[in-house]
Amino acid sequence: MSKIILTGDRPTGRLHVGHYAGSLKRRVELQNSGEYEKIFIMIADAQALTDNFENPEKVRQNIIEVALDYLSVGLDPKMSTLFIQSQIPELTELSFYYMNLVTVSRLQRNPTVKAEIQMRNFEASIPAGFLCYPISQAADITAFKATTVPVGDDQLPMIEQTREIVRRFNTIYAETLVEPEALLPENEACMRLPGTDGKAKMSKSLGNCIYLADTPEEVQKKIMSMYTDPLHVRVEDPGRVDGNAVFTYLDAFCREEHLERYLPEYRNLEELKAHYQRGGLGDVKLKKLLNKIIQEELEPIRARRKEYEKDIASVYDILKAGSLRAREEAAKTLDEVKKAMKINYFDDLTLLEKQSQMYHNN
Ligand code: ATP
Ligand code: MG
Repeated sequence: MSKIILTGDRPTGRLHVGHYAGSLKRRVELQNSGEYEKIFIMIADAQALTDNFENPEKVRQNIIEVALDYLSVGLDPKMSTLFIQSQIPELTELSFYYMNLVTVSRLQRNPTVKAEIQMRNFEASIPAGFLCYPISQAADITAFKATTVPVGDDQLPMIEQTREIVRRFNTIYAETLVEPEALLPENEACMRLPGTDGKAKMSKSLGNCIYLADTPEEVQKKIMSMYTDPLHVRVEDPGRVDGNAVFTYLDAFCREEHLERYLPEYRNLEELKAHYQRGGLGDVKLKKLLNKIIQEELEPIRARRKEYEKDIASVYDILKAGSLRAREEAAKTLDEVKKAMKINYFDDLTLLEKQSQMYHNN
């Protein structure tokens, strides 16, 4: 079976280093590996509207931000189809049919959705569209027959929900859809990068992000005021590594060559951690190291972004062409789905024949 990727991001803000660590960097590697027959990268505007329906301008403005971030990290429209979710009506149609295969209580049990409902204060009145977004995500993934979905670990419940829908659909109707697999980052710290405030997840909606498009000064300022260990007051105090966001970021981004270059007195991250735990290593020294590493990683991304920013029209052209290509692909799957569900009345000649015969014989 050919290997196909589908993944995407909500246009609710610019992309941040959490996206980069959790998914974007991997996507570019997978794209360049040549192992995948097709790669679809979606800007999930319809999904973003499920909790931003009162703020359509925000979603509209962020399409270009996400597209620029995609191009600047190295996603190449010649190898990956970049498209906008709402421009593929087939996805909405698939979602409607999949709704029959999922119960409301199953949707309410989804741990990521549960946490998001709480974060958005939706407890008293959950918009039906928001509760159902995992179903629309199943439509996105299956429309492209995706085998592989590279994501951070907050997306695992969505992939599981998709797999359930696929199994149910194929059992009830006919073997049509493909069960996808999540592809998590190999590095544990990248699965769910915490915010600069130490909160469990760096997230556009929480405002605790280092954005890929931040200036070097902004990045430095954010890193220098990052959450560490609140009990590590004086340099000589022993410090905590677990739950210390600076160390999680170092786990995510620091390679031995960085230490060789910037802090050669340590051979590896373990030695640095041990020193911090013993006491005698200050937060400022750590943060300066992290700043150098992150700046190095972001510099080429920032430079490429500047180039693409000069020609916004061509970025929209890329999205338009990608959306047309994606639509063709989704339409094929929708045809198969409708056939399996027996709602293909006009292209089924045997239906016409049988019914004509039945009425003729009477
Ligand atoms: P929102 O707050 O609007 O939900 P978000 O920051 O969570 O935005 P999404 O567009 O929902 O971003 O997520 C896009 C992809 O990035 C998903 O694959 C998700 O797993 C991954 N991702 C998002 N935040 C992180 C993070 N902090 N660490 C690792 N991966 C992340
Ligand atoms: Mg999210």
